Amino acid sequence: MKNKHVYSFSDGDGHNKTLLGGKGANLCEMTQIGINVPPGFVITTEACLDYLKQDKLPGDLMDDVRAEIKKLEAATGKTFGKGPDPLLVSVRSGSAMSMPGMMDTILNLGLNDETLASLIKQTGDRRFAYDAYRRFIQLFGKVALGIADEPFDEHFDAVKKRVGVKADVGLGADHLKEISEKFLQVVKSESGKAFPTDVMVQLELSIEAVFGSWMGKRAVDYRREFHITPDLANGTAVNICTMVFGNKGDDCATGVGFTRNPGTGDNEMFGEYLTNAQGEDVVAGIRTPKPLQEMEQEMPEQYSQLVALRNTLETHYQEVQDYEFTIEKGTLYCLQTRNGKMNAAAMVKTSVDMFEEKLITKEQSLLRIDPELLEQLLHPSLDPDFEAEAIATGLPASPGAASGKCVFDADLAEKLGKAGEQVILVREETRPEDIHGFFAAQGILTSRGGKTSHAAVVARGMGKPCVAGAEGIVVDVDLRLAHVGDYVLHEGDVITLDGGTGMVYLGAIPTIAAHFSEDMKTLLGWADDAAGLKVMANADTPDAAKKAREYGAMGIGLCRTERMFNASDRLPIVIDMILANNETDRKAALDRLLPIQRADFIELFTVMSPNPVTVRLLDPPMHEFLPTEHDLLEQIETLRLYRNVVRGRQTALDTLATPSELPKPFNELSEELVNDALIKKERMLKKVRELQEVNPMLGHRGVRLGIAYPEIYAMQIQAILEATVDCAKRGISVRPEIMVPQVITAQELAHVRRTVDQLTADLEKGFGKELRFKFGTMIETVRACTRASQLAENVEFFSFGTNDLTQAAFSFSREDAENKFLPMYNEYEILQDNPFEVLDIQGVGQLIKMAVDRGRAERKDLKIGICGEQGGHPASIRFCHYAGLDYVSCSGPRVPIARLAAAIAKLTEKEFATAQDWNEKRKNAPR
Ligand code: ADP
Ligand code: MG
Ligand code: MG
Repeated sequence: MKNKHVYSFSDGDGHNKTLLGGKGANLCEMTQIGINVPPGFVITTEACLDYLKQDKLPGDLMDDVRAEIKKLEAATGKTFGKGPDPLLVSVRSGSAMSMPGMMDTILNLGLNDETLASLIKQTGDRRFAYDAYRRFIQLFGKVALGIADEPFDEHFDAVKKRVGVKADVGLGADHLKEISEKFLQVVKSESGKAFPTDVMVQLELSIEAVFGSWMGKRAVDYRREFHITPDLANGTAVNICTMVFGNKGDDCATGVGFTRNPGTGDNEMFGEYLTNAQGEDVVAGIRTPKPLQEMEQEMPEQYSQLVALRNTLETHYQEVQDYEFTIEKGTLYCLQTRNGKMNAAAMVKTSVDMFEEKLITKEQSLLRIDPELLEQLLHPSLDPDFEAEAIATGLPASPGAASGKCVFDADLAEKLGKAGEQVILVREETRPEDIHGFFAAQGILTSRGGKTSHAAVVARGMGKPCVAGAEGIVVDVDLRLAHVGDYVLHEGDVITLDGGTGMVYLGAIPTIAAHFSEDMKTLLGWADDAAGLKVMANADTPDAAKKAREYGAMGIGLCRTERMFNASDRLPIVIDMILANNETDRKAALDRLLPIQRADFIELFTVMSPNPVTVRLLDPPMHEFLPTEHDLLEQIETLRLYRNVVRGRQTALDTLATPSELPKPFNELSEELVNDALIKKERMLKKVRELQEVNPMLGHRGVRLGIAYPEIYAMQIQAILEATVDCAKRGISVRPEIMVPQVITAQELAHVRRTVDQLTADLEKGFGKELRFKFGTMIETVRACTRASQLAENVEFFSFGTNDLTQAAFSFSREDAENKFLPMYNEYEILQDNPFEVLDIQGVGQLIKMAVDRGRAERKDLKIGICGEQGGHPASIRFCHYAGLDYVSCSGPRVPIARLAAAIAKLTEKEFATAQDWNEKRKNAPR
């Protein structure tokens, strides 16, 4: 059976956008619910695909079109190509996805010498008729015959110049007549053929042109740019629609409207119109349109029709609409509607309002918002009205905007920050020992590293803006300046970062504060009720925990204790611990760390009470706490030189009979003191060399470290448990969870567990009550996934560390991948996403699923979560829901996004019922 290629607006299926295109489907739908749409019909996208395949229109298409034209004639009482009341139509493209400004619409089709004469007679308005004609000739010439605008514009401008007017409205009927005639000549000379007078030929050529434009360069580029794949939109439909005229006098108008204010979400009439004008005049900006509200005075009757239209549209579509209308001689017609695009604040507000107005259900109010959109609302942003040119661009690594003096090292950043200055830390790349600089800085800028570089991850965790890998910037720390192209940035110069776009600006640009509105709280409250997954935050400090709570985190899913070690009052103790050559020395250092860690935990637990806090035992390789070999060698060299100076001074003093007074501090630095410093540095160097590893990420870290130096883990566990006792004694309910990183075997867990049991037993004796906490493991090695049932015997929870698990599954080192070949892999479509941002479901996801199944088979009530970067990404969250996890944990500022995504995952779980299905669907989902 052959497919039907043509549908009247009165019988096309308004839900079938794939077949009829978005514009066509909505024109059908509106017609069928009684909205006043000019009669018309749709030629399907299937006809377009046939045309593209065979390079000609399907055989009987034009017969069907003729039949539809007959229907239009019957409905309107007009006749096509002849008669006293000629039928004119528009020819409009429209695919399943909106592709704004892609393919021009031809207006006023059906004009030739004969119909033009009738139009003049019928309307008595020569100017109107010739204006319509010249518009048609140019648009047809351009769209159907591929003639450029220039030859038309030349003639048009020549006439305007001669007459001495600037705007079209200054031209009279005779001028427009002259222009029409010139335009007909342009068509002839440019296309080599006379302008077609047969209106069916006009129509056929136009249909072919619209179909053909689907494969035009502009359209192909647009689809590539916005990832519109054939499963999203395949071919364009053609809409043939009876012309209505907004330019027939002062009782005519044309305009565009939104059913609500798309900037604020306010429930009010919003839009613009022009009296006595045609549709494209409003957008073209030839005349300044008036706000819709003015219509209430100017055309009160039509205004109330417009209000009625707006209400009908919203009630029917249950969504904010963006519509086009024209008023011809007092009658209102709707020419198009589609879902309105709004900013995040407006989306949130309209969701809450429309639910409260009983227009939509709670589920709909959640489902209509893309979680990523909320990002806009969670960080300060640059004032959009401020114009500035970027001096450099990098990767948008952590959203938000900030200004401050640029500072080239963390120590100075800390010093200035403490003094109350706004600073931006600018580094080639950052390392864990820069952490105090992060705390002090407003934002971070690096010239190397990707979106998951140290700088990016830490900045995101703190909710501070970061631009990473801005390669145009060359930092010279010694000279205290940075080169940005031809520009030299001196330390202390003020710059502004936009972490949402990756732009760097000179000077301070005003920012707009983040806005966590009451509506947002309401909406996210609904999301929490609907969701299956709980949403935790990755937070390392009490401050970060407080912020995470404000974002609605239901606990801390990952507290990285090493971040506590890096604070400047602790690092020296940590270094002493590392330099210790025996257990006694190490214990001494650890004894000094214990009260500090305990105090940290007490604060953290208190902030999060009564929610769970998962503390990861020390994870990174030790060398990360020490300076680099290069730095040490340099320092030792300087110290040696200095020792010579001190020696020289002594010699001089001994030689001279009456030495003059030396400045005091200089006097105090004896050779012994310099020697002490030198020895310390040399010891450090020796240790750094000892600790050097070929591949530190796969080296002596995580639980391996905990087993080699059991006193380190013992100190941390003791601090956690003592903090628990302390809180309990003060009546603060806490739920600590101790987590072991980098585990590969059950034996490792048993090993650490013994320490835990021992310390618990000791503490409980003093406390007199049972200590409540959980013991668990991170799952971040492939072996941990395969041995999940054995691991589950030893723990009460799993937490997937998907950063390391992704590295392990791909055998990629993250930094190298992102800096070297991942962009290329994405470009060649070998990989669709960055697996460090978007969980790789097909690979890493399968490991997770296996570990969940095996773990739960062993221990039914095993609590399972994810704490990698991907835990805040909506598509990954959907998978986590599907895989049966209990929670996701992500950086604080992403918590709201994750809460909404968790709700959406639950509400749409049936659509994603099986893994297979899930992957299929994901391909189709908008990216
Ligand atoms: P776009 O997708 O670029 O908005 P449209 O097909 O909607 O293109 O049309 C361009 C302009 O022409 C719009 O302002 C529209 O309202 C107007 N228009 C289209 N068809 C008609 C018609 N039959 N009568 C009057 N104006 C029309
Ligand atoms: Mg339009
Ligand atoms: Mg890890």
